Amino acid sequence: MDPKLQEIVALDQAHYLNTFGNRTPVCFVSGQGSTLTDTAGKTYLDLIGGIAVNVLGHAHPRLTQAICEQAGRLLHCSNLYYIEAQARLAARLTALSGLDRAFFCNSGAEANEAAFKLARGYFHKKGTPRAKIISATQSFHGRTLATIAATGQARFGIPFAPLPPGYVHVPFNDIDALTRALDDDTCAVILEPVQGESGVWPADHAYMKAVAAACREAGALLILDEIQTGMGRTGRMFAFEHYGIRPDVVTMAKGLAGGVPAGACLATADAATGFQPGDHGTTFGGGPLACAAALAVLDAYEEQNLVAAAAAQGAFFREQLQVCARQTQAIAAVRGLGLMIGISLKQPVAARVKERCLEQGYLIYPVGDSILRLLPPLILTPEEITRFCRDLTAILLEVAPA
Ligand SMILES: *Cc1c(COP(=O)(O)O)cnc(C)c1O
Repeated sequence: MDPKLQEIVALDQAHYLNTFGNRTPVCFVSGQGSTLTDTAGKTYLDLIGGIAVNVLGHAHPRLTQAICEQAGRLLHCSNLYYIEAQARLAARLTALSGLDRAFFCNSGAEANEAAFKLARGYFHKKGTPRAKIISATQSFHGRTLATIAATGQARFGIPFAPLPPGYVHVPFNDIDALTRALDDDTCAVILEPVQGESGVWPADHAYMKAVAAACREAGALLILDEIQTGMGRTGRMFAFEHYGIRPDVVTMAKGLAGGVPAGACLATADAATGFQPGDHGTTFGGGPLACAAALAVLDAYEEQNLVAAAAAQGAFFREQLQVCARQTQAIAAVRGLGLMIGISLKQPVAARVKERCLEQGYLIYPVGDSILRLLPPLILTPEEITRFCRDLTAILLEVAPA
């Protein structure tokens, strides 16, 4: 470990709240495109992208320039006043999503909190209050109390009981379980179109269609958590476009502002009636800096055609991984949409593969013992994909011989 890294690790271990345990012992000092450089000057191909955040990679000139310009003019001013970049971003995101209104916040959890409040507020305003919010097992919706209540993985919530009431979980991709749970006390169903944190599990096409129809019939709002799947990640601007449905509410964050913290809750005109003035707010959300960054990200998407790139490179990547699977016999399945990719290994060697990748200059992310997750920048090139798949093949042959 180089002395600089050693010093940083010692400070962290002495003073940072122990929420992240023993982190991967690397500290990055700069990045360029899809490449990161650490304190020792070693470079890595970034196939995690800050967990789906660095959609434009690192130090993208358009984003950097927009941030610097906005910071030099106006950083923050409060939602007491009109904010130009916020108004323009609301117009852009509603046009892209086909929804009607946007609220901005700073993170994914906050976006989902806004969505839950909106759903409850919607029925309260109609004079027919409803409390129940249905989500899926193995889902992930954030780390605040309400969002861990919605998250269908008990381990996140158990130490922090009591959680806010009204959250119910049903098995993912099981329409009968969902329709059984949907009743006249249900204000909303929240789903990830592709479950990310639990290992990249896409919703079935027929399931999503049936969920949308069941929600409509029950009068419940359909909230799609596109915090990870949005911003072109899956090869469409929003993953719901793959399914030909129109949700009532969509939440976003992660890649929205390319690395500047930002979240959004988008709603149809009808769902948006759930909030009246004074019902919700934020100090930082929708500030000039984050919104200017998000606008620059959307401009770069258009100029570089990055949503189509995510679809094309994602398809190429999965093809190359299938070649790797044939050559190594170590891969049970390759899943995903666009540049959201999950690799199920036949043996529980995910941690070892991650370690070997790190040594060879690749950042990947294990889920549990046997799943690898890839969420690279949307600017990833075919050459980078080919290089990684070649080296992953060698690593799998070594770590998990057939
Ligand atoms: C990351 C994530 C969240 C939480 O976002 P934060 O910004 O960490 O609060 C919620 N839902 C999904 C699907 C996510 O991937």
